[in-house]
Amino acid sequence: MDTQTLKSNFEGQLLSPSDPGYDEARQIWNASIDKKPALIARCSGVADVVAAVNFARTHQILTAIRGGGHNVGGRALCDDGLVIDLSRMRSVFVDKTTRRVRVQGGATLGDLDRETHVFGLAVPCGIVSKTGIAGLTLGGGVGWLLRKYGMTIDNLLSCQMVTADGQVLTASAAENADLFWALRGGGGNFGVVTSFEFQAHPVHTVLGGLLLYPRDAAVPVLRNFRDFIQTAPDELTAYAVLLHGPDGAPLVATVPCYCGDLAEGERVLKPLRAFGTPLLDAIQPMPFPAMQSLFGPSFPDGNQNYWKSTMQRELTDGAIDAIVEHGNRMASPLSAVVLEYYGGAAGRVPSDATAFPHRELPWDILFIAQWTDPAETAHRAWARQGEELLKPYSANAHLLSALDVEDADVINSAFGPNLTRLAAVKSKYDPANFFRVNQNIKPVAPAARPAVQST
Ligand SMILES: Cc1cc2nc3c(=O)[nH]c(=O)nc-3n(C[C@H](O)[C@H](O)[C@H](O)COP(=O)(O)OP(=O)(O)OC[C@H]3O[C@@H](n4cnc5c(N)ncnc54)[C@H](O)[C@@H]3O)c2cc1C
Repeated sequence: MDTQTLKSNFEGQLLSPSDPGYDEARQIWNASIDKKPALIARCSGVADVVAAVNFARTHQILTAIRGGGHNVGGRALCDDGLVIDLSRMRSVFVDKTTRRVRVQGGATLGDLDRETHVFGLAVPCGIVSKTGIAGLTLGGGVGWLLRKYGMTIDNLLSCQMVTADGQVLTASAAENADLFWALRGGGGNFGVVTSFEFQAHPVHTVLGGLLLYPRDAAVPVLRNFRDFIQTAPDELTAYAVLLHGPDGAPLVATVPCYCGDLAEGERVLKPLRAFGTPLLDAIQPMPFPAMQSLFGPSFPDGNQNYWKSTMQRELTDGAIDAIVEHGNRMASPLSAVVLEYYGGAAGRVPSDATAFPHRELPWDILFIAQWTDPAETAHRAWARQGEELLKPYSANAHLLSALDVEDADVINSAFGPNLTRLAAVKSKYDPANFFRVNQNIKPVAPAARPAVQST
């Protein structure tokens, strides 16, 4: 690849396979991914992104976008092509008067939480601090504040982005509204988002943490959790997890996060904490960034990872039995089954108001296979079998952000009935499918293109 023309117009760092630091730069969170790009362009700002997009388009080079590098299927990288790497663009600016936050496209959730917390504010995002805000937002974004304040996309006000033709555009309700609709759930299909603008909310100290039981108690604990969370106030978001303790003991946990008045939170959480005989009740008031950091150590960089998940309208007793039975077969103590319950404010947004379609499916069951020895492959089969076993209970829908490498029909199920409209927006902004290292939405051939709807 002749990089001379790019070099003359690039402020950041360009790394080819022979350069020191190249191997480190091509590492992402999931060590199962071993892709070797021809060039990694670590951008220092919007001008670098424009230069990289123009270079790749002119020379017809396959191009990937790296935000936080946490996509489990490794979509931040590509073999032999160009990686537009935003990992040096991590600034966060908070306007405490308007509670608006501007976040660069390579920032992590930790970067965002750290800055907003200074002002007693938080933006709803995910639950592991090293995850990239870009990939998470473009996939929808679910986390501890979701039932009170909605998904990450419900708090997105605008995006600045570089499109396939090298233009810098703003997408918001007032400007390029069709693009703004598509960015809220359509993944990285439409361009490189160089910054996001979010509405933040007053969240400082939350009541949260782990409630741990022995795995033997999993069925009654999960049934009680289901009944409890479905009638809980919006201030409470909670997940349940089948996991192992540091000593390898099989456990089941419920993990609540209450983001309202703390005394009221104590009252709300009482019945959950009173259930059965917990081994540990570590629920306590904590700064929101501490809640956001609880699961970080469980997802370190450099392990092998493979995920399967399925969304459900309800969690029946039969589904719980199947989840526990299969959870008990997990062979790696680093693996987990996570039961995420959404609803609340996120569930009240109409399914076509943003590109994220699955507002009426409050349950997502995630089989997370994680292990250390690359030679072991059985863990992948365990995750796949888990999804298979839940098919009778599944709505045959998926959360875009949780998808590993999947067939087109599975990817399409993450877009659901919004796919046709997404394809029309893709055709308008990226007709040649320049941005295709992602959960790809194919542009429609010109003759078959429907008019793009605006919101
Ligand atoms: C440990 C862990 C915990 C997670 N927890 C949550 C959670 O709580 N809630 C949740 O909703 N999701 C969660 N996820 C899923 C996560 O949101 C997705 O994996 C997401 O893709 C990660 O974003 P990233 O920027 O790190 O991705 P990357 O791997 O850097 O990029 C993934 C894809 O996103 C697109 N992309 C990235 N940056 C940009 C950009 N600036 N402009 C345009 N497109 C871009 C590209 O298509 C790229 O291929 C978690 C993932 C992990 C690994």
